[in-house]
Amino acid sequence: MVEVLSEQVVRLAYLLSAVLFIQGLRDMTHPRTAVRGNLVSAVGMLIAVGVTVLWFEIISPVVLIGGLIVGGLVGAWLAVRVEMTQMPQLVGVFNGFGGGASALVAGAELVEFQAAAGGSFPLELAVAAAVSGIIGAVTLFGSMVAAGKLHGVISTGAVRYSGEHAVKAALLLVAVVAGIYLVVQPDLLSAYLHAAWVPPYWVLILAASVLGVMLVIPIGGADMPVVIALLNSYSGLAAAGTGFVLNNTALIIAGTLVGAAGMILTVIMCDAMNRSLTNVLFGGFGEVATPEEMDEIYEGNITETSPEELEMLLDTAGRVVIVPGYGMAVAQAQHAVAELAELLDADGVDVAFGIHPVAGRMPGHMNVLLAEADVPYDMMKELTEINPTFSQTDVVIVIGANDVVNPLANEDDSSPISGMPVLNVGEADTVIVNKRSLSPGFSGIPNPLFARANTYMLFGDGKESMQDVVNEYKDSR
Ligand code: NDP
Repeated sequence: MVEVLSEQVVRLAYLLSAVLFIQGLRDMTHPRTAVRGNLVSAVGMLIAVGVTVLWFEIISPVVLIGGLIVGGLVGAWLAVRVEMTQMPQLVGVFNGFGGGASALVAGAELVEFQAAAGGSFPLELAVAAAVSGIIGAVTLFGSMVAAGKLHGVISTGAVRYSGEHAVKAALLLVAVVAGIYLVVQPDLLSAYLHAAWVPPYWVLILAASVLGVMLVIPIGGADMPVVIALLNSYSGLAAAGTGFVLNNTALIIAGTLVGAAGMILTVIMCDAMNRSLTNVLFGGFGEVATPEEMDEIYEGNITETSPEELEMLLDTAGRVVIVPGYGMAVAQAQHAVAELAELLDADGVDVAFGIHPVAGRMPGHMNVLLAEADVPYDMMKELTEINPTFSQTDVVIVIGANDVVNPLANEDDSSPISGMPVLNVGEADTVIVNKRSLSPGFSGIPNPLFARANTYMLFGDGKESMQDVVNEYKDSR
């Protein structure tokens, strides 16, 4: 098998993988083609891994196929078991493993070189290994802390202490000095440098690992999705570094694509929250509002409604917009919501979903859930498209969304969400907000929308409430 594969065939296979990665990413830019995009990229990765393992005779084809089966089973098990709301931490863990693998492979290459050739490392190898080691170790440990915070196994609070920045700077300095030592290879301590297990590299890894923990620990749990997108970008850069260590084109291209895509995603998330990356990494949202602050806005101004009343409103509505948020994901209410939209659509009502770019806890969270419930893609409208239509809308149903419909973003310069683009649902004739209580959303601030004259609160779990409305609607036909 191995003999059949000439070097040219390997190069062509890598080129084909790169083309499939890029085509896959392109497909992933639209919900309609996203599933195909995932598949196309996975085929590209399968070709790249298969050719690499066979050509370099790393393991026997039997072990390779065995690994694919075991990996496939673990992947399928995770896909079935892990809840949609736990997806950000799963992505975090995957990023971490990617970064850790890059750091270990770069280290193994150094050790192998030392054992085979001894003496000085070639410049490209030392530079690439140092870069890959630092970024990979930061990614592994940073991602584990981020995933732990999101999963609630590590305190979600921002752990701050005096001298925090000095500690981080010192750790970075140690890692960089160890990296420079590896590259420059001064004569002093040469026995130490040239020991078979390459000690400076592991000093670098140790310092970068602690740095990874220290970088993420001071950031509040609520900002973890942005941190995970950033670490995703880092994992790509570490992989690209390891691609240079191994002189492997497929890895360099795949790593660079992940690095760029992760960075673009990070910027999109920050823009959608109107926050700078520096503010996310070093600032964070303020304290949760006190009950007194909440009372000031809500007391005497809240009007409740019921599924029966909502059904009556829907009976006479010509246009309805549904705005989903994190609570829809928690309640797993997407199927009930989709059924309601289908019933209204069948009765000739103009129905649309208003999707905010950061609704939920990860980019595209709402699109994924609604697609899972077979909501037609052309019903899902982005913020810029839906906002001008609220003034011509009879009923808006806000389900489990809070911050993304908070008018304070437009009205109060001192608000932590000031300047964040929001869905202006209050411009519709009637707004129904479904959530379990008046408690705040992710940003911890009250929402004056709930106290407005044209807003009615439908208190209750998202899935149960929507199912009740669907039943009422069906019964009334
Ligand atoms: P919010 O976090 O603002 O609000 C969610 C609301 O859902 C809560 O107020 C909660 O109220 C309600 N809820 C929870 N469980 C249920 C349930 N079972 N049934 C009904 N309602 C429920 O969510 P949004 O989607 O409006 O906003 C997302 C926030 O997350 C934004 O501030 C955004 O910046 C932030 N963010 C988003 C990221 C992303 O990539 N999407 C990344 C990082 C941050 P109650 O408890 O009363 O039911």
